[in-house]
Amino acid sequence: MFATLSDRLSDSFKNLRGKGRLSEADIDATAREIRLALLEADVALPVVKEFVAAVKERARGAEVSGALNPAQQVIKIVNDELVTILGGETRRLRFAKQAPTVIMLAGLQGAGKTTLAAKLALWLKDQGSSPMLVAADLQRPNAVKQLQVNGERAGVTVFAPEPGNAQGVEHGGDPVDVARRAIEEARRTLHDVVIVDTAGRLGIDEELMQQAADIRDAVDPDEVLFVVDAMIGQDAVRTAQAFLDGVGYDGVVLTKLDGDARGGAALSIAKMTGKPVMFASNGEKLTDFDLFHPDRMASRILD
Ligand code: GDP
Repeated sequence: MFATLSDRLSDSFKNLRGKGRLSEADIDATAREIRLALLEADVALPVVKEFVAAVKERARGAEVSGALNPAQQVIKIVNDELVTILGGETRRLRFAKQAPTVIMLAGLQGAGKTTLAAKLALWLKDQGSSPMLVAADLQRPNAVKQLQVNGERAGVTVFAPEPGNAQGVEHGGDPVDVARRAIEEARRTLHDVVIVDTAGRLGIDEELMQQAADIRDAVDPDEVLFVVDAMIGQDAVRTAQAFLDGVGYDGVVLTKLDGDARGGAALSIAKMTGKPVMFASNGEKLTDFDLFHPDRMASRILD
């Protein structure tokens, strides 16, 4: 296991205890440690460069306070900078003035969208909402069934095309039509939130983007959430950018945070897209889900 950023910084400051100000050489040594630690955490290179430059700038200007030694002071600067990039405060869901609120999920196959859809529905239900899940992923053979099973576990209504009929999977049904009909059904049956699960592919492709964009245009979502696996490291940024250009989204959901990913993806995506990470998915159980907390992620990257 790599040394943590906090350890690295403490080590590089060992000889400095009691010394007042940071010299330029101290700052350079610190910057090197931060750079290495962020690269090891899979943060994208341009983000690392900008981050290190910002920390150097702040370290130069920092007044040495009585309470903190230089190592603690730099760690505080790094932490504050991480929290700022990660969005500061947790960004909450925006609900439509007139129900139903429509939330659309987009992302690559395997990112964890279908699981996330059910988690989000359960979370909203626990807060008093009456969500409806919509199976508009007609690409992956098992996706409709999986959403139905998870929806049942969450105790939430699932709107899905009947297998075998014209909208069904077997007939290469039309996900735009399914999504559109689902919104009408939600209005009729007084569900106040509609969560639309869309198809993903293993890689980014034109057709996938077009389909997601068509669903978006048909349902006019209040929130589009980009769902991304935190374990894919450097690839996360490329995927996040492709979905931003192809579909557009309001927020990000990071999945598989129960794995050993250090959180580099969170930092890279937040910085490069400017979109807030809103939710964290951290396990296979439906309750392994929470709001994303920038300060907790900053600690994870540091520690
Ligand atoms: P989709 O193709 O985007 O709909 O992805 P799925 O929801 O089918 O998830 C793909 C796989 O990842 C499944 O085996 C899920 O059980 C698993 N998965 C989803 N979210 C998480 C998570 O937060 N942690 C872990 N460990 N596994 C997850």
